[in-house]
Amino acid sequence: MHEYVSRILEGVIRRDPEQKEFHQAVTEFLKSVDSIIDQLPRLRFEKILERMVEPERIVQFRVPWVDDSGSLQINRGYRIQMSSALGPYKGGLRFHASVNLSVLKFLAFEQVYKNSLTGLLLGGGKGGSDFSPRGKSDREVMAFCQSFMTELTRHIGPDTDVPAGDIGVGAREIGYMFGQYKRLANEFTGVFTGKSPVWGGSFIRPEATGYGLVYFAEQALMDAGLSLSGSTSLVSGSGNVAQYTIEKLLERGSKPLTISDSEGIIYDPEGIDNKKLAYIKTLKNVKRGRVKEYADTYRNSVFTPRSAYGEGNPLWNYPADYAFPCATQNEINEVDARNLVANNIKAVMEGANMPTNLEAQHILTGSGVIFGPGKAANAGGVAVSGLEMAQNSSRLQWTPQEVDARLVSIMKNIYKTVDQAATTYAKKGDLVAGANIAGMLRVSDAMLAQGYV
Ligand code: GLU
Repeated sequence: MHEYVSRILEGVIRRDPEQKEFHQAVTEFLKSVDSIIDQLPRLRFEKILERMVEPERIVQFRVPWVDDSGSLQINRGYRIQMSSALGPYKGGLRFHASVNLSVLKFLAFEQVYKNSLTGLLLGGGKGGSDFSPRGKSDREVMAFCQSFMTELTRHIGPDTDVPAGDIGVGAREIGYMFGQYKRLANEFTGVFTGKSPVWGGSFIRPEATGYGLVYFAEQALMDAGLSLSGSTSLVSGSGNVAQYTIEKLLERGSKPLTISDSEGIIYDPEGIDNKKLAYIKTLKNVKRGRVKEYADTYRNSVFTPRSAYGEGNPLWNYPADYAFPCATQNEINEVDARNLVANNIKAVMEGANMPTNLEAQHILTGSGVIFGPGKAANAGGVAVSGLEMAQNSSRLQWTPQEVDARLVSIMKNIYKTVDQAATTYAKKGDLVAGANIAGMLRVSDAMLAQGYV
């Protein structure tokens, strides 16, 4: 690493020593861009990189709300406005007990380069709370969302910062938050994406991350002479991203074998078909149940509780052709990566953000596994959010077919851009370097042109 690049990384670690997830995302990024610095003398990289690792603004606030027993609860709310180089801050809100500044800073950092890769005019940000909607009543979730928005409203706007969903924030939460924003700001605008298509949302937004992931995977596989047809796949998670990844995999002729949630994993040796997928959607989205129930309904499947994981997650130890981690960060560790390699996995495509830790990533890429990093592979969600913003600005709504066609073309274009950057600046097939470099170049060009702001 160049001396000043390691100094920047050391500075990031020294300033906020406890922010492990943020260090992880920045380390991967700096390693990739370090290799091209000498090839791009026109950029005064040192100062650009120093700015890139520091959020433009962080808002942290108290979120008081009353639970069903009448007690006052206090949670923490955040919004990280990481970069406005390419457009209004854009990125989801995560509501989960594990949310803290480190997790949100890593997500906001990834979001900047992911949004850049979409080719749309989107800056990057992320926010959320350590509030978890799991187990809460609808009324409690509404009370929390309204209190959260009472503060957040003053910091966002359709041309300033446009939040969306992430873990724990789906259609219900977006509805409650948009409703409160509308009352406080007295405007009906596209300040959120992921809205219902009935009142301003885009068709295909719920499907977009999962569909986009499979479209991206198809491009990468085609390049390597492989295909999804007749294959088997491991999918983790069971939320929005996992559900629509499974849906598109089935359409493309791959047989998904697994799902998971925080309590454990399901392995279905017969494969998850469309009927079982419909069951999962009702279980998760309507009944808000746990995947354990799948094993009670489909008796040939196996449920392994989280407590039985040991060193690695057994989901990654079932043989299959392809893996689609769609749960959360760092869900594939070194043990999992070795298991995947031992079972001859051909590709790992990240539906979640940073699901593979740095050592595991190293093991996979070092063993010739095709590796699609999240900031490229899962960019379909935010891409359709960008299309939702365009539809809102023009006060029009495009058909599902039109949005899907645009999503296909954006994902193909992301693969092409990432592949070209990898080939030019690193090596063919190094999609991690390609994504970081291509994402970074667009942002740094904009930053240079806009002066030291
Ligand atoms: N949370 C999603 C992501 O990680 C989507 C963000 C958005 O649509 O703004 O990219």
